Amino acid sequence: MTDQLEQATDQKPRRAAPWEYAPAPEAKDIVTIRPRYGLFIGGRFVEPRSGRYFETVSPSTEQRLAQVAEAGKEDVDAAVKAARQAWEERWRNLPGRERAKYLYRIARALQDRSREFAVLESMDGGKPIKESRDVDLPLAAAHFFYYAGWADKLDYAFPGRVARPLGVAGQVIPWNFPLLMAAWKLAPALACGNTAVLKPAETTPLTALLLAQVIQEVDLPPGVVNIVTGAGETGAALVAHPGVDKVAFTGSTEVGKVIRRVVAGTGKRLTLELGGKAANIVFDDAPLDQAVEGVVNGIYFNQGHVCCAGSRLFVQESVFELLLEKLKERLQTLRVGDPLDKNTDVGAINSREQLEKIEELVGSGIEEGAEIYQPECVLPERGFWFRPTLFTGVSQSHRIAREEIFGPVLSILTFRTPDEALEKANNTPYGLSAGVWTEKGSRILWMTQRLRAGVVWANTFNRFDPSSPFGGYKESGFGREGGLHGLEPYLDFDRANGRRR
Ligand code: ADP
Repeated sequence: MTDQLEQATDQKPRRAAPWEYAPAPEAKDIVTIRPRYGLFIGGRFVEPRSGRYFETVSPSTEQRLAQVAEAGKEDVDAAVKAARQAWEERWRNLPGRERAKYLYRIARALQDRSREFAVLESMDGGKPIKESRDVDLPLAAAHFFYYAGWADKLDYAFPGRVARPLGVAGQVIPWNFPLLMAAWKLAPALACGNTAVLKPAETTPLTALLLAQVIQEVDLPPGVVNIVTGAGETGAALVAHPGVDKVAFTGSTEVGKVIRRVVAGTGKRLTLELGGKAANIVFDDAPLDQAVEGVVNGIYFNQGHVCCAGSRLFVQESVFELLLEKLKERLQTLRVGDPLDKNTDVGAINSREQLEKIEELVGSGIEEGAEIYQPECVLPERGFWFRPTLFTGVSQSHRIAREEIFGPVLSILTFRTPDEALEKANNTPYGLSAGVWTEKGSRILWMTQRLRAGVVWANTFNRFDPSSPFGGYKESGFGREGGLHGLEPYLDFDRANGRRR
């Protein structure tokens, strides 16, 4: 107890900085946005047969950025046929070391043009440039590098078995990490010898279309990657297309369930990476200042727009008051605003629709009796914004503790014993990620063995690496992306004495 008190005194909250940063906006002129984008099919940008276009807007300014083609069924069909032809005539016959060269080229091009990609990502999606520059871009390039390394080593990856590609992968991705999710999908698919049709989210298509330009520049054989833009209907047409051998989806649990039904009985392979309601668990012996930073990184940076966001914080009762005080103080120092400003911590909410969902759920938290806290930051007048928010007095039955909010909204609950923390953390239909904060290694191991989550971070949060697999349990989906595990969903296996297709 004395130790605890001493520790508590040591960890007195620091005062918020009394000064402000001058604005430091990243220049936009590095980015050229075309007024109108076609579909990327067979190595070329083509007009959509549907004749339809939609607009993509900047969520931080509500300014229209470009018109983007909306692929109809015929367009999806053309893309799948181009992918099939490229697979049969070219890609599946290329030795792994040749496929690897293309992936290395893409990775290097992403590094060369990383500032351009990062600025475009922040313009189209609203995330702070700090995130797109320091997280999304390096990780996207690293993913291509990593899987380039596997392309000629599949026999070593799966000893005693002969790995062969599946064919055409149909891949549908969300708006929270637009380029990174494209990399997560395309890199392993191509490394394993598949071709792909990728559908980016309707609110964030621009970096995938810039990636299409990179793909042209590195001379990837036409049709190996095709990019069809559009909304849910386009995604549905892709998933249901009989020429697709493998479906990979990242998005909401609701749509994941629909896709699972559509794919059932077709023989298509499927991986789903769906929603989450991650628990961040802070024990009383944890380094509290680091934990506060981890919590902030887990839910406020990125506007809570990550499926692995640490949206439920479980704090051991004895340090609850202290941690809450520190957290509130930290929230006061978060800079919310222009995503292109290098000092911005919290950017714009991705779309009006998303903002409305957040407002509705936060409203339900207040109605159900939880206590809300928001810092006094000034929000820009135009665009979609939500103040970093935390709730105390939350009970497990509250909607804010159960449903995925996908916004910068934290629900704080308390516990007394590790068993109670575990039971509460696992009390969710999701199982994507979790975090444990404690000095004790044995407790970390005890917790990680029992937490029903695909990824558990210890004394950190939201760290990614292409070599470690990521994916969920329960309603968070199945299948893993990243690492050696991320190759398997894109391969079929014969025994070593079998024949390669
Ligand atoms: P979020 O809630 O993250 O926006 P969604 O699941 O709605 O997630 O969207 C993720 C991706 O799935 C987007 O690219 C979207 O266009 C696509 N999508 C939406 N509905 C369907 C569907 N019925 N079939 C296939 N893809 C879909």
